[in-house]
Amino acid sequence: MTTAFLGLGTMGYPMAGHLARHFTTAVWNRTPEVAARHAAEHGTRQAASIPDAVGADIVFSCVPTSREVNLLVDAALPALRPGSLWVDCTSGDPTMARATATRLAERGVTYLDAPVSGGRPGAESGTLSVMVGGDAAALERARPAIEAFSSRIVHVGAVGAGHMVKSVNNALMAVNLWAASEGVLALERGGVDLGAAMEVINASSGRSFATESLLAAGLGPDELQPWFKLALLHKDTAIASDVARNAGQPAPFLSLIVDMLGAARAGLGGEPDYRAIPRALRAWQKGILGRS
Ligand code: NDP
Repeated sequence: MTTAFLGLGTMGYPMAGHLARHFTTAVWNRTPEVAARHAAEHGTRQAASIPDAVGADIVFSCVPTSREVNLLVDAALPALRPGSLWVDCTSGDPTMARATATRLAERGVTYLDAPVSGGRPGAESGTLSVMVGGDAAALERARPAIEAFSSRIVHVGAVGAGHMVKSVNNALMAVNLWAASEGVLALERGGVDLGAAMEVINASSGRSFATESLLAAGLGPDELQPWFKLALLHKDTAIASDVARNAGQPAPFLSLIVDMLGAARAGLGGEPDYRAIPRALRAWQKGILGRS
């Protein structure tokens, strides 16, 4: 089986590295120096172009949004092999994914949406969770390749279902992180020992991924190694809010977190990591986000 990987960012770079340990793998990245580094580090083949990359049995993509996936599909279509699979690991938009699946099907290519969870550490250790939407038989064909970078693969429904689950998961994480940041800041301002507070919270019913993994050591330094861009989390919450709207499910909390993350991005400026949310709240306290 041959594989191709398009998009060697924070997630794609290590995921493609795991694939290359088991399969002949071609890589393409918008910034070609990254693909050259990947080829040197992992023995992959740096493709000269998208069409040069995608004549594989399974094509993987992992780019910021479904808009960039569409650009990749535009360039790849004439070079795709009928009978091949396109596994999209982007955290994308379910409606756009259905349209992409239809376009690819006209070329004889089966599309699976397969967003991942586990962050940069999970991608590096090859232990991501993957939620897959699309044809179950196609997933069985793709499974050996997906297993190269994951320890849990769950089929969640038809095309688009993977993106729906991923967006709701990330919206829940965002709500938890925002609320936990507010709570921890309140405790700090109230003079409580944060180490002791986190020890109790993480052994109690208020614990979450946010309190256990992101805030366990307190509010963290201002400068953070990039793990997951706040812009990407903002995009995920907007997708979750759309999922609720399209389903006719009132979801005021989901809509609120979209607005809050938008305000945090505007207030922080630049390209902050999602763990900068407490910093946005501190700035808010100081009036930088428009309130004292
Ligand atoms: P990054 O921003 O680190 O990487 C984005 C990748 O997409 C880069 O390879 C970039 O190329 C490429 N890209 C951006 N724009 C274009 C374009 N117009 N055309 C072609 N390629 C483009 O993102 P992540 O790896 O963090 O995230 C990728 C996806 O995975 C997102 O959907 C994200 O929501 C999701 N995700 C991220 C997680 C994380 O913890 N980081 C965890 C789980 C899911 P270039 O090198 O040229 O910039």
